[in-house]
Amino acid sequence: MPSMPAMDGKIVAAPHIVILGAGASIAAYHDWGKIGPALPSMLNLIDLLSLRTDVSAAGYDPNLTNFELLYDELASTGKNEELRKLIESRVYEYFSTLSLPEAPTIYDYLVLSLREKDTIASFNWDPFLLQAYQRNECVSKIRRPRICFLHGNVKIGICEADRISGVNGNKCSKCNKFFEPSKLLYPVQHKDYSTDIFIKSEWDALRYALSYGYYLTIFGYSAPKTDVEARQLMLTDWKKNPTLELAEVDIIDIKPKDELEENWQEFFVSHHYGIQTDIHNSYLFQHPRRSCDAFAAATLMLDPWHDNPFPRFKTLRELQDWVKPLVDEEAKVQSEKLAFSGDPVLPNKRT
Ligand SMILES: [Zn+2]
Repeated sequence: MPSMPAMDGKIVAAPHIVILGAGASIAAYHDWGKIGPALPSMLNLIDLLSLRTDVSAAGYDPNLTNFELLYDELASTGKNEELRKLIESRVYEYFSTLSLPEAPTIYDYLVLSLREKDTIASFNWDPFLLQAYQRNECVSKIRRPRICFLHGNVKIGICEADRISGVNGNKCSKCNKFFEPSKLLYPVQHKDYSTDIFIKSEWDALRYALSYGYYLTIFGYSAPKTDVEARQLMLTDWKKNPTLELAEVDIIDIKPKDELEENWQEFFVSHHYGIQTDIHNSYLFQHPRRSCDAFAAATLMLDPWHDNPFPRFKTLRELQDWVKPLVDEEAKVQSEKLAFSGDPVLPNKRT
């Protein structure tokens, strides 16, 4: 593989950005064999959080009530603060009890598929992404993507005074006081992404990455009607991207293709997009840690690399060991100012 010309070198240093919605956690849950408590959707949340009686008592028909619309009404009218607070505490409790099984999950593959220049932004309240992030830190603490929680997260704590966030239950490194749980952003029509310091910093990180990203993967996120502002924020920064015409978008979703094309059209530049139903077939998982580099080699230099798909592993240790040569190569490339070889990792072979 010849070394990259300067122009391409610049592009491949641009981030791969992954945006996660509820569908990502549901896909992960199915993929790991549905071990553990069921994952809520906005359609079954009322029952899953045992809120049926309370919702009825407040005068709503639980069979007809969509959680998002109910919450939005409670929040915007201030009509039943008691019910709103009850919902919030049940949501927090429920999501706090969720955890990853021991075996490697889509979340583990995901955090190991990206490098420190990359960003994963999640709309999910569940703790899966942060758990995967923590339990794979043994591979490399520094060569990990930035992770952002766009609607808050049950596993994130914050110290407002020092503007530091960390894992809920830990102490602030500056003042040594326990972190306060971060606020969750609930499904209201008009969300406020700028008042809460933590939420704003997460959004700023995503928006910055979008403004110069090279590859965008949207996994299980449909930008629902209650996320109008979110979609607009993302689109504005993506459109500012000076290399947008070279960028690629992948949508990972089980919805019908034409529906997805219509939903995400504004984010596509001509035919530079792909749609898959399974993250394991995505470009990211076919070229873990090298997605941007491999994509540049294929599209800018017309010298495509061999695919290097993640094998499916039984244990986390096997997955981490498989990734290690790629991480080692990154350190070498950095210190010796080399280009990536593009060589697949065993048992993947050149064909
Ligand atoms: Zn502090």
